Amino acid sequence: MTLVAILTGAGVSTDSGIPDYRGPQGLWRQDPEAEKLVTYEFYMADPEIRRRAWRMRWDSPALKARPNAAHRAVAELEKAPGVAVRVLTQNVDGLHQLAGMPDRKVVELHGTARSVVCTACHARTTMAEALARVEAGEEDPPCLECGGILKSATVMFGQRLDPVVIGEAMSIAKAAEVFIAVGTSLQVQPAASLAGIAAEHGARLIIVNAEPTPYDALADEVVREPIGTSLPALLEGLR
Ligand code: ZN
Repeated sequence: MTLVAILTGAGVSTDSGIPDYRGPQGLWRQDPEAEKLVTYEFYMADPEIRRRAWRMRWDSPALKARPNAAHRAVAELEKAPGVAVRVLTQNVDGLHQLAGMPDRKVVELHGTARSVVCTACHARTTMAEALARVEAGEEDPPCLECGGILKSATVMFGQRLDPVVIGEAMSIAKAAEVFIAVGTSLQVQPAASLAGIAAEHGARLIIVNAEPTPYDALADEVVREPIGTSLPALLEGLR
């Protein structure tokens, strides 16, 4: 079994109509008012910020988006004999799983926008359920278990990444024989350093990204062509 780790960033989902929100050049970073909606401190302190955040979730294209050719190619590689695939993703859209990747083989570094979590009792429900309450008129729906503040199960600015999730991602990077970073600028830590860890531990490092990344010099192969066509071809070659 060859272990192939695939680190995916915003560029993998742009063909599905989801813009880059979170990256260094992302929409949130360029709009201080929008950034407040996804910053933990502001979100917890201000009910008006939460009402706006729920409206933003309601309007977000992420939950209606469909997987594209890149997501499907990853899921197909996972079914190929002799290859074990693990996805490490900076995306919160759940599109790898919708394309057919088993949930247990996807490490969501920044959480998921498809679930909602209570900030007090940590109870989880689906985003669809919470948005149905918003549609029914609750502008800032509280936790049904304890009345606490609900938020999407994503890692907001100002929140720590889950150390268990990071530990799992590090182990996969260390064990990988092939490590492919796709559609990520490799500028957001600690996700970015996973590429370096994989290379240090002997993985063949392949970077697929339109723009240069800080890890290009370490890579065995750098691909600049559009992800929607280059990734399926690259993964086909691995089978
Ligand atoms: Zn609760």
